[in-house]
Amino acid sequence: MPEMTEQEAQYFVEQVLDQDERSAINVALASQNPWKHESFNDPVKTNLGTVKVKIKNFHFERVSRKCCYCRRSLEDASIETDREHIVPKGKKKSLSYDIFNLSLACKRCNMTYKGEKVDHIVDVDTIESDLRNPDRYLIPHPNIHSYEDHLIRISVQYGAQQFTSYRRITPQGQFLYDFVRLDKLCVDELDIAQGGKKVDEVVAQILDLPLDGI
Ligand SMILES: [Zn+2]
Repeated sequence: MPEMTEQEAQYFVEQVLDQDERSAINVALASQNPWKHESFNDPVKTNLGTVKVKIKNFHFERVSRKCCYCRRSLEDASIETDREHIVPKGKKKSLSYDIFNLSLACKRCNMTYKGEKVDHIVDVDTIESDLRNPDRYLIPHPNIHSYEDHLIRISVQYGAQQFTSYRRITPQGQFLYDFVRLDKLCVDELDIAQGGKKVDEVVAQILDLPLDGI
């Protein structure tokens, strides 16, 4: 996932959204629960609905059509896609529609494990004015960092047998691994060892990935 530039974020607000949608966001942000578009009357409700569709479309290719945290495919019919607020909208409602604070995650990572937690943010009270600072996040930020510099999902299917693991490369990768419990997504049905190496080590060697993670 490449870093989202200021220009890219500006393009979304000024070119992708239209005037009615920008106005609807302003109305929503003045309310108690800006993200709950169903609670507004038309035309605000309809406009917020199309804003959410545009947010999803905008981020879909940015995350390579995969959950920004576990990297499972969002095109898999069994995986439900959520718009993910990196800084939880319940903690900072002003960031509810901030395209830089948004990405796409699977419902598992978003709802089951991340939720309203702020453990991954350094000093959430002051984050709004420092949103683009990479040092403020203990996880790879979907719009700042390249995920694969920190954590690599390795998934191999051989016939009916599945192998999935996550290679943790940096402390941020390890933090995310623990934060959304990626250990629970690891499976090893491929009971093979080549030269004493496990499948992920063999794959890492073939792809020339860092061998000694965390
Ligand atoms: Zn996920």
